[in-house]
Amino acid sequence: MTDGQRRGNGFAGPHLASRPDERQARFRPVECDRCGAMVQVAKFSPQHTSVQWSPASVRACAEFTARVSAGEQTALIDSCASLRDSIDRAVLQGSVEVFPP
Ligand SMILES: [Zn+2]
Repeated sequence: MTDGQRRGNGFAGPHLASRPDERQARFRPVECDRCGAMVQVAKFSPQHTSVQWSPASVRACAEFTARVSAGEQTALIDSCASLRDSIDRAVLQGSVEVFPP
């Protein structure tokens, strides 16, 4: 009897552990103002931004390409400076929402 009640209350509670596809659904495309590179962006907190680069966007971004050819690893590069501005603006405009993990 209490089972149904508990389930009803749980609905408004914290969301369930996120599955990979659920996490994926939080990503939103953001385009770099300067180089036009299109990346997938998810914000898990105001400080934590996850950026997914595709091979095409890596090639499109001059700054990213320069840093990679200077020896940096792509996994350690968040974004180029202009893309960071574009992401910040996308967040301000609400096209990228902040989803805590
Ligand atoms: Zn760029």
